[in-house]
Amino acid sequence: MAEEEWFLDEFEIGRFIGEGKFGKVYLAREKQSGYIVALKVIFKQKLEKYHFHEHLRREIEIQHSLDHPNVLRLFAWFHDETRIFLVLEYAAQGELYKLLRNLHHFSEKRAATYVASLAKALAYCHENNVIHRDIKPENLLLDFEGRLKIADFGWAAQLQAHAKRQTMCGTIDYLAPEMVQNKEHDQTVDNWTLGILCYEFLYGFPPFEAEDKYDTFKRILKVDVVFPSSPPVSPEAKDLISKLLVKDSSKRLSPQKILEHPWIVQNADPSGCTKE
Ligand code: AMP
Repeated sequence: MAEEEWFLDEFEIGRFIGEGKFGKVYLAREKQSGYIVALKVIFKQKLEKYHFHEHLRREIEIQHSLDHPNVLRLFAWFHDETRIFLVLEYAAQGELYKLLRNLHHFSEKRAATYVASLAKALAYCHENNVIHRDIKPENLLLDFEGRLKIADFGWAAQLQAHAKRQTMCGTIDYLAPEMVQNKEHDQTVDNWTLGILCYEFLYGFPPFEAEDKYDTFKRILKVDVVFPSSPPVSPEAKDLISKLLVKDSSKRLSPQKILEHPWIVQNADPSGCTKE
């Protein structure tokens, strides 16, 4: 599928899936092939109100250029006078965030499978000079087999090879120290975020959570990681987290090294599916 070749009447619109800040998402079937997709409908008026055009253009360009089993596919987009339509891969099991809230925390096997999927997706993104910068449970979806898909590239940046970026963005609990300090940053910010997520998957909350955002900032800068005694978490998992939550960004484990870490090797399901 490519730009401009698609029109709304080529889809049968099914049930409403959910609503985001800029529009609504529906299940849809492409009439000719019978292929099931998620159709995101964005209202141009809302985009204008929030000056979000550039943001969306970047998101579309980046997501459309990526093709990896752990990155949500953006197959095509088209528009009419009032709306923009994104034809997205359908993630049948929905948000990972909701599953985490329901289960409170994940088993080591499930957590390791998600971390390995994220590491594979990030290795691929970084090879293509894309840094996501806004990885958080709300931006992770699960397909019908429970395979993790990174969605929402609204904050991603396409780097010139080896260039560093300096923009404050992302959600505060997941921000790397260099971003909190508004310093230059590169793809190693995503490796830090993987450490945050690994912790949150195992304990149910992110490591630097605090009453207010300034306390979170302080805890991030001190790398004030506390491992609670409950739920019990293996020393190998803590070792991986400690090797990702490192202030010196050049010393954080790379996605490739994450995949070679003993905790991942022993616990992650190579298929990437989660069926517990
Ligand atoms: P968003 O506008 O991206 O915040 O999405 C609004 C709602 O639709 C959220 O509950 C998402 O989980 C859901 N959603 C978005 N994209 C998809 C998709 N490709 N497959 C399944 N659910 C989705």
